Amino acid sequence: MKCWNCQSALDEALLCARCGMPQPTEFLGAFEVLGLAPRLNWDAAELQRSYEQLAQKCHPDLFWAHMDERVLTAARRAMRTLNDAYRELRDPIGRLRYVLAATGHSRELTRTVPDGLQESAQIVDRVLRTVEKARSSADRETWEAHQDHLASLQVQVEKAQEHSESVRAGLVVEWDNAVGNAPMAWPQVSDGWYEQAIRWLGEREYLDALTTRMHTGRDWQEVSEAGSVK
Ligand SMILES: [Zn+2]
Repeated sequence: MKCWNCQSALDEALLCARCGMPQPTEFLGAFEVLGLAPRLNWDAAELQRSYEQLAQKCHPDLFWAHMDERVLTAARRAMRTLNDAYRELRDPIGRLRYVLAATGHSRELTRTVPDGLQESAQIVDRVLRTVEKARSSADRETWEAHQDHLASLQVQVEKAQEHSESVRAGLVVEWDNAVGNAPMAWPQVSDGWYEQAIRWLGEREYLDALTTRMHTGRDWQEVSEAGSVK
């Protein structure tokens, strides 16, 4: 590919290295947009620094002097692409989700009960339903009667969260080792890695949803008939 403005050859990048003009972005992935290797373990400050440096160089305000609609359009588009890429990659879970989607694996995602919770998943659900019903019908007695049980179930869920984090750490290390010295291409990892990562993300979504329900269930606040909190 060549720069549309100065015709010099382009690496995959948001801006031309020679003339500084923003380039068409439709072929760039989120990591390329930010000029970063597709690693999973990025430090948040490091990501933010890359984002801010690029944002300073392609901000549309810089290009007003050109009075050329093509230049302004390119700058606006580059800025939008940069913002989208940063939003997708800024947090570690989003980054893993992006990697799975960008390598064609996101269709297989489904919420999954983690191994350690399979036996108690139905109990958790039943207790939560009871508590949720008690909350919405302002039945404080029933709500209180289930709080101890809910608290002990919450301990189990927190253990599952901890285990989930250690599995994620293993996935990250394997992926980042494979990124190694071919840093601008998708790394070669086994099909097993993708299977495990998809399963992990499905479990994580289940755990996050459950944690939210538990926090709500343990907080006494009556819900009015219309569904709004009093
Ligand atoms: Zn150029």
